[in-house]
Amino acid sequence: MLSYQHHYHAGNPADVHKHAALAWMLAYLTRKDKPLTYIETHAGRGLYDLADPAAQRTGEAAQGIGRLESALPADHPYRLRLHETRALHGASAYPGSPLLAALSLRPGDALHLAELHPGEHSRLSAALAPHTARIRREDGFAMAHAICPPTPRRGLLLCDPSYEVKADYDSIPRHFARIARAWNVGILVLWYPILASAAHGPMLTALTATFPGGLRHEIRFPPVREGHRMTGSGLFVVNPPYGLAEETAHLSQLFG
Ligand code: SAM
Repeated sequence: MLSYQHHYHAGNPADVHKHAALAWMLAYLTRKDKPLTYIETHAGRGLYDLADPAAQRTGEAAQGIGRLESALPADHPYRLRLHETRALHGASAYPGSPLLAALSLRPGDALHLAELHPGEHSRLSAALAPHTARIRREDGFAMAHAICPPTPRRGLLLCDPSYEVKADYDSIPRHFARIARAWNVGILVLWYPILASAAHGPMLTALTATFPGGLRHEIRFPPVREGHRMTGSGLFVVNPPYGLAEETAHLSQLFG
């Protein structure tokens, strides 16, 4: 049974890292007048309310978006999507990655989302109702294997598991290798937590061996509360788009 729910953590420093890089990549991809596919294997509910008691209880958003938003350039694609989300859903609304994608894509682009948790899946369906999206309540890796290579062939896949299932650390390099064999032009983005236990280490060793040209970017931050095990956030990007290394260097400066 899945127990992880992202609404306790939405808008935290790791979300700012992942969502700023994602919004930048989607803005880069949509600059070209050619359709694209966005695939997300672990979608969450798509839209969060930072005034919700769960979010308030952890206080993680205050450490993340609350502290960092104004340090981003006013025209950064992530800030633009934040403004659009608040205009549509209210001042305390925060976009999850599926909504960031839906707001970035154009008619003719394809959006495929998987979310296994029944409650999160139904909230996701409601949040994305105004957008054209294919939303499945199934295992995200199974969905990715079934639809890759997608049509349109240009595009990006985000894999953002909760790592509740520890076997994810072992299986992700194999899933990424299989997806990349089927979809060699796809931009594959993996988010991972940096924990005191360094549980991500062997996974990154395997990914780097398979994808020597992959871009690895990590930021560190103080634990969001005492005893919290996450001390950083990582992204591994296969087929990184041109300019991503420079953009992630800017993000490193943001986190100081
Ligand atoms: N990417 C989202 C964002 O940034 O807004 C957050 C996703 S959250 C970290 C991970 C989600 O994956 C949870 O909602 C969980 O229910 C879901 N999940 C867990 N295992 C899954 C699986 N095998 N397939 C699809 N979804 C899964």
